[in-house]
Amino acid sequence: MMLSSKSLALAAVLLVSYDVDAFVSPQQSRTSTALAGYGIGSWKNKSSSPSSSGGAAVATRNPWDDVNETNKVAKTDAFTKAPAAVKKSYGLGSWSKTASPGGSGPASSTKMTPLPASVHAGVVTGQAQVDLLNHAKENGYAIPAVNCVSSSGINACLEAAARNDSPVIIQFSSGGSQFYAGKGLDNTDFAAAIDGAISGAFHVRTLAKRYGVPVILHTDHCAKKLLPWIDGLLEASENYYQMNGEPLFSSHMIDLSEEPIEENLEICQDYLARFSKVGMLLEMELGITGGEEDGVNNEDVALEDLYSKPEEINQVYEALSPISHMYTVAAAFGNVHGVYSPGNVKLEPKILSRAQAYISEKLGNSAPADGKPVNFVFHGGSGSDVTDIQEAIGYGVIKMNIDTDTQWSYWNGINQYSKKNYDYLQGQIGNPEGPEKPNKKYYDPRECMRAAEAETVDRLDQCFSDLLCTNVCGGSLSPSPRGKSIGGLPV
Ligand SMILES: [Zn+2]
Repeated sequence: MMLSSKSLALAAVLLVSYDVDAFVSPQQSRTSTALAGYGIGSWKNKSSSPSSSGGAAVATRNPWDDVNETNKVAKTDAFTKAPAAVKKSYGLGSWSKTASPGGSGPASSTKMTPLPASVHAGVVTGQAQVDLLNHAKENGYAIPAVNCVSSSGINACLEAAARNDSPVIIQFSSGGSQFYAGKGLDNTDFAAAIDGAISGAFHVRTLAKRYGVPVILHTDHCAKKLLPWIDGLLEASENYYQMNGEPLFSSHMIDLSEEPIEENLEICQDYLARFSKVGMLLEMELGITGGEEDGVNNEDVALEDLYSKPEEINQVYEALSPISHMYTVAAAFGNVHGVYSPGNVKLEPKILSRAQAYISEKLGNSAPADGKPVNFVFHGGSGSDVTDIQEAIGYGVIKMNIDTDTQWSYWNGINQYSKKNYDYLQGQIGNPEGPEKPNKKYYDPRECMRAAEAETVDRLDQCFSDLLCTNVCGGSLSPSPRGKSIGGLPV
């Protein structure tokens, strides 16, 4: 079901008016005191420790040598933010904001604990990433994970993250990676998909620090036949680690949900062991996310396969935890890729709660105090009711994928731009102002692409708000300059 242009225009107006107060540009909002910490002297490698003159933003220890011990347990159940009173079924024509959760500002401005000192602007890997995800769990928010296929899409994500003063996850699918390299490039042996993802990673690393937000750099679904793609990227991260003391990517997803669970776990164990040596996190999938995405069609799967059992999630916990705690689980709780008519998406977030309780009981005294031993990832959230989303966050969801909604917003920005300027876009010369008037400034691709970006930033504002992921950084991070530093590029 498509959004009507009328409701979207209304939504856009409401979003814009909501965001005016909240928007403070990075330049306006942040002090420069932490900038020094990102200077050349702070570039971290395995043989020298960083000078932490900038305070908050620089890791002060090898960020992954104590990963296994420090998947810290929350001391309190910090999911104190009640689900927003506003009930929005976004993506289905009614997602315009009718009231803001906190009255005048973002919902999560209260009771957010300060970001751990290890978490810095730029790409976070290793311990910084673990600390950031634990912060999400303890404070009851999930980080939006947005599929990007272009530098323009990436920039929209970074802009939205900076506007919300919050972390973001930027991820590439295999098809998106190939597109990033250029569809005209030969993709034999996944060469274009590997190089495209690396190219995107360098783009993110170049700019994330400039936007002043922490970014988890990730790749999306990797089915068994796509494993050579991840092998290429992992090799790149291992090489990058040798040279720079951190991996190129923060994490990868390996989706073997279509294989028998034993095989799924066995392969994930092998990858997790390799990932953990360079401070990378593994996202694995259990059960099937329905719907269609990036050429994978699960529209006709049996209903029971859309729901993971607590025993299965426990199997994952028992298989992976002894290797490393740097993994997340995309469990199936009725989630479906894509946007469908209301009623077709029957989410059962309590499946996640039951799994947490089941595993905690098995763990007995060694169960984490918050009763949430597993970090969950929410796939197929488009079209979900915000109360379901926030209920799932309360059960340990720390990442939600966003693809369909931003595909729509990007297109809709172009569509609206084209409609608005139709008479100026039908030829290089000639418009209602005169037959010889040039139209160059209307068909300059920057115009329609910027309209797409602006619409996407607005849509992402809604995502950040729904996921209670606003003002997470609390103004503690600064845009940092180019130069050798962790999270950026060594140039
Ligand atoms: Zn997915």
